[in-house]
Amino acid sequence: MGENRMAYPKLIEQLITKFSKLPGIGRRSAERIAFWLLDHSQEEANILAKSIIDLKEGLMFCRICNNLSDTEICLVCSDTTRDEKIICVVENPKDLLAIEKSGSYKGHYHVLLGTISPADGCGPEDLKISQLMNRVSAENIEEVVIATDPDNEGEMTALYLVEQLRPLGVKISRISVGIPMGSSLEYADMSTLGMSLAMRREIRE
Ligand SMILES: [Zn+2]
Repeated sequence: MGENRMAYPKLIEQLITKFSKLPGIGRRSAERIAFWLLDHSQEEANILAKSIIDLKEGLMFCRICNNLSDTEICLVCSDTTRDEKIICVVENPKDLLAIEKSGSYKGHYHVLLGTISPADGCGPEDLKISQLMNRVSAENIEEVVIATDPDNEGEMTALYLVEQLRPLGVKISRISVGIPMGSSLEYADMSTLGMSLAMRREIRE
């Protein structure tokens, strides 16, 4: 009663259930994907399955900036055409990708892999902050752009970074306009993100 759902063979139902747990995929799309796979060759299914396994097994964090990478040094860090005097600090690799998509930034990055968040028991020592300090001291960095999210944790992290960076005598700036307070960088639209980076303001004290 009520549910007028077709009884699929268990193997299909199992796959549909798995797919429908993916972000943005409802049951209908999950059914479509499952039947697409049934319609296509064994080889195509193998390629898809292998890509998923490779993703989990082959990805690592870049040794320099903590971006996701399938090599020890990521594509951004190994790109010699980028401005090596500027580092943009982001919370996670998704934020880096969002900024890259906006096409508005051609410097290097540093991914903190989180934010300072007392509620989650996450302090500065849990983030890749000392690694950032080492980079700023050792490399010839002129500006650090802090692009953490404009929410409580992001602001707290930005304040801490400013305190730590100040003695190093580097120019420090913060992304500004456009991204509403409390929101996340990764969901900002590309032109807003580009604008926010272009209009970043220097933090002087
Ligand atoms: Zn890197």
